[in-house]
Amino acid sequence: MAAYKYETHEYDVVVVGAGGAGLRATLGMAEQGLRTACVTKVFPTRSHTVAAQGGIAASLSNMGPDSWQWHMYDTVKGSDWLGDTDAMEYLAREAPKAVYELEHYGVPFSRTEEGKIYQRPFGGHTTEYGEGPPVQRTCAAADRTGHAILHTLYGQSLKEKAEFFIEYFALDLIITDGKCTGVVCWKLDDGTMHVFNAKMVVLATGGYGRAYFSATSAHTCTGDGGGMVARAGLPLQDMEFVQFHPTGIYGSGCLITEGARGEGGYLTNSEGERFMERYAPTYKDLASRDVVSRCITMEIREGRGVGEHKDHMFLNLMHLPPESLAERLPGISESAKIFAGVDVTREPIPILPTVHYNMGGIPTNYWGEVLNPTEETPDAVFPGLMAVGEAGCASVHGANRLGSNSLIDLVVFGRAAAIRAGQVVDRDSPIPVTNTESVDKALERFDRIRNANGSISTAELRLEMQKTMQADAAVFRTDATLAEGMEKMKVIAAKMDDLKVTDRSLIWNSDLMETLELTNLMPNALATIVGAEARKESRGAHAHEDWPERDDANWRKHSLAWIEGNDVRLAYRPVHLEPLTTAEEGGIDLKKIAPKARVY
Ligand SMILES: Cc1cc2nc3c(=O)[nH]c(=O)nc-3n(C[C@H](O)[C@H](O)[C@H](O)COP(=O)(O)OP(=O)(O)OC[C@H]3O[C@@H](n4cnc5c(N)ncnc54)[C@H](O)[C@@H]3O)c2cc1C
Repeated sequence: MAAYKYETHEYDVVVVGAGGAGLRATLGMAEQGLRTACVTKVFPTRSHTVAAQGGIAASLSNMGPDSWQWHMYDTVKGSDWLGDTDAMEYLAREAPKAVYELEHYGVPFSRTEEGKIYQRPFGGHTTEYGEGPPVQRTCAAADRTGHAILHTLYGQSLKEKAEFFIEYFALDLIITDGKCTGVVCWKLDDGTMHVFNAKMVVLATGGYGRAYFSATSAHTCTGDGGGMVARAGLPLQDMEFVQFHPTGIYGSGCLITEGARGEGGYLTNSEGERFMERYAPTYKDLASRDVVSRCITMEIREGRGVGEHKDHMFLNLMHLPPESLAERLPGISESAKIFAGVDVTREPIPILPTVHYNMGGIPTNYWGEVLNPTEETPDAVFPGLMAVGEAGCASVHGANRLGSNSLIDLVVFGRAAAIRAGQVVDRDSPIPVTNTESVDKALERFDRIRNANGSISTAELRLEMQKTMQADAAVFRTDATLAEGMEKMKVIAAKMDDLKVTDRSLIWNSDLMETLELTNLMPNALATIVGAEARKESRGAHAHEDWPERDDANWRKHSLAWIEGNDVRLAYRPVHLEPLTTAEEGGIDLKKIAPKARVY
């Protein structure tokens, strides 16, 4: 192996990732006087969070009555009863506080006439425990909410003297005696290697949308945190639940926010029919995402798709006043023009369900601490390691996430991780010394990949994986497609040993970086399809045609996937059913969230 020299850095906390989750955690850690570094492969404000359009959910009641208990109910139902009750309660209860904090940090929210934070309706968010009309709960900064949040949090983190290591690619965790003690990074612009020793490592690396062919997520969403965790011998959770957003622009996959339907937009088929009224008579176009995506797919299958190939649907905004489009949805008006050549004031937008979000991820408790579950101790914590944001699975989204519940997840759990780290990180204890054995292992792996000299290019193999996932782990799944997809994916994963990296340089080498990213996408993709094949029921985003019913007796449990070579070992852990506060203490009445059929 080429000898790699490395520079050593010492911190109380190292956060990997500078999206909404990573920045909120970084800010919280630094505010408490923990010496904090944030390592990120892209410039912080280019993280995928920047693309979040629609908004962030919190029961502020600015536009009408609302309560955290209603928000919690909607989240439980949205999750199709797979979310953990304690985590969902924490999310809904802490959400208003977290949004007011953002406001005070300087996020430029849109305003009502009276100057309050503007809130819009979003799918699956209701009043009166699903019995009342839709609620306006989603706080928005026009249709650029993620952008506003990211810029604000980055500025605040700098003010608190958090230190940023920008365009550093995290390769692997350093594990010492069953504990995480740091992370090894490659600096992309000068090729140097860096070891960060720390008392706590926080993974905030985002989702793995790019395991699929058509996704709304950035090309950087490659599940690097999941890859690192899998290599450390820890499991991934609930990976079979992948959200398809109903309205990706046909062809490009670029997102049209659900806020477009929140502001009054509606879907039509080739007969001009508002078909959602047939499937979801109460909430219509504002039913939950998995439901709307399935309805679109069924309409297309039954021959009512639009366009030459009858293979997509229309989203109509023409009836909305041009002033409100300009004020509330300026960004998507622009996207529709650029990516579909459509003037939204005159024509409908061609749309198709597109991969959007990963409900699964690195299992954590609601403080963000990573779990190392065994059968006897399903909630055991793996010391020194946290995961927040889309990379983590707390689990608040269960089998299906509600729109605008991710941005709130980022800030609530980013903040929770900081609070917890303030308690468990001993500021006076020494920083762990470099574990040379673990560092060498990471560098040897890097060197092996850098010198890979097989016969398949990274781009070719990635495309094979993406096409297989798109075809076989899709909106609708069957025993046959999943079994076939699983076998195909095992063959594809085995070809990782035959990769060819053409560029061996250490500086600005995108071929090498994309290969490293592919080594992270692959375990995420494998866990997804193997988990899906095993789950013999339909729940949330996992719609199984051979097992069309939800089966709470056998399947109301989280799946855990350990990646062992090109194989996946599965086990399950129970869903947390206990809330944090009882009804007497002001918490939710458990009868309200007892499982029932999920109808919108
Ligand atoms: C187009 C789009 C619109 C959306 N709109 C909304 C919305 O309106 N409301 C809502 O609630 N949700 C929305 N979502 C979902 C939500 O935006 C994401 O789930 C969320 O932003 C993820 O944030 P994150 O902080 O977990 O990760 P990201 O924002 O993806 O950031 C990941 C960070 O990790 C870093 N990183 C990754 N790997 C490495 C590595 N190996 N080494 C170093 N650094 C690394 C990256 O540099 C980056 O800084 C949207 C998603 C998309 C794709």
